[in-house]
Amino acid sequence: MKYNLETYGCEMNKAESAALEAMLRERGWEAGPRDSADLVLINTCTVRATAENRAWGRIAQFASEKRKRRFVLVVVGCMAEQYREAMKERVPEIDYVLGTFQKQSFGLILDQIAAGTSYDLTEETPAYVFSKTHSEPGAFRAFVPIMHGCNNFCSYCIVPYVRGRETSRAPDDILAEIDSLEAAGVREITLLGQNVNSYRWEGTKAEPVAGQGDRQGGGALDFAGLLRVVAAHLREKRASAGGEASAAASSGIGWIRFLTSHPKDLSDDLIRVIAEEPIFCRHVHLCIQSGSDRVLAAMNRKYTKEYFLGLVDRMKAAIPGLSLSTDILVGFPGETEEDLEETLEAMRKVRFTYSFMYYYNPREGTPAMKLAGKVPDKVKKARLARVIALQKEISAELMAERLGAVDDILIEDRSKRSSKEMLGRTARDEMVVIAADPSRIGQFARVALKAKSGNTFRAEEVNE
Ligand code: SF4
Repeated sequence: MKYNLETYGCEMNKAESAALEAMLRERGWEAGPRDSADLVLINTCTVRATAENRAWGRIAQFASEKRKRRFVLVVVGCMAEQYREAMKERVPEIDYVLGTFQKQSFGLILDQIAAGTSYDLTEETPAYVFSKTHSEPGAFRAFVPIMHGCNNFCSYCIVPYVRGRETSRAPDDILAEIDSLEAAGVREITLLGQNVNSYRWEGTKAEPVAGQGDRQGGGALDFAGLLRVVAAHLREKRASAGGEASAAASSGIGWIRFLTSHPKDLSDDLIRVIAEEPIFCRHVHLCIQSGSDRVLAAMNRKYTKEYFLGLVDRMKAAIPGLSLSTDILVGFPGETEEDLEETLEAMRKVRFTYSFMYYYNPREGTPAMKLAGKVPDKVKKARLARVIALQKEISAELMAERLGAVDDILIEDRSKRSSKEMLGRTARDEMVVIAADPSRIGQFARVALKAKSGNTFRAEEVNE
């Protein structure tokens, strides 16, 4: 039987889609074209109104197709969690609405589809369960979810309402997934969570490796501790195999990233681990959102500009070559020109490698919806343009400073411009183009950064 899966939204959704695909493959399903699939799955995102509108559009298209041919239509992800049965009332052609906490029912649904019967989801007791695997066969990069949900309730964000409270994954299960990914040839892992820095495991399994990952408070393992456990685990495996865990090795996991970091939870111990363990990439995505204390308080971000800049100083001092990226949200209710200036000043001080920049759009179901002081669209767009212009300037300066540097890249894909050129990425999350054969995709290379073209470096491979 054939399935067709569409995924919208964040990396967590992508990881969860890969887990659903693994369940499908286990039961003999194959991916196939949409117009002949027996099962169509849409993994939805509700973080922005635009993402939600797009998903409703796709659902409507599939619903109209269902009137012409038989197939099972399943909606999963954050919209499914938010609207549940109301989705089926709005679009009766949907067969199953599977919330984020009901993923384990997916296997039962598949068994029922194969048997030609249907499954009653209302009998489920929802609880978030981490899947065992989150990657596709043959992948050289993979996401490994380590925690799920968020307790922060930033006033503009819907995530805590649809993903629920924070749950951390057992360290043993994380190590087991990393081992199986490594055995399958994966070279880069990204540890994933809505706020990885608040990872906390209180369980009794997975004692940290001796001398590494000390537990705090009589038994708990925090994110820094987890990173020590992961690094020590890979190091021990390499030692017994007679090699090093690094990008220079010809196989095995070469480096590890993590996403996303809330500044208020980024501890000095975490800074130390990144500094001490070269397997962790010298890149942290650290969302500032605004440089104004007034706006940060209205956003419920729980830090000030001074705290953020102090944290950045400590990180840069401890981790040479660190690259920082961020999210910036302009036009939040009540934001003034002075507030925007504060944001621009923070950007100049930190010098982010790149930023995801956007203007505020009210999100139904969030406290910020009710805030006074709406900023007119025209003003929001003009402020966003200023932020983008400054980021472009900073990115160009930072790239110019890097010319001549020699660094490792993981070759990821063919370049769009030429079939003889490949696109790679440094540990600092910089895009690099080199002349190489497509057979090198998924391998590391040592390159010299020679020139820049837009946001991408042009580089030459070196043998050192
Ligand atoms: S930290 Fe804030 S922005 Fe990030 S998921 Fe949690 S509530 Fe949303």
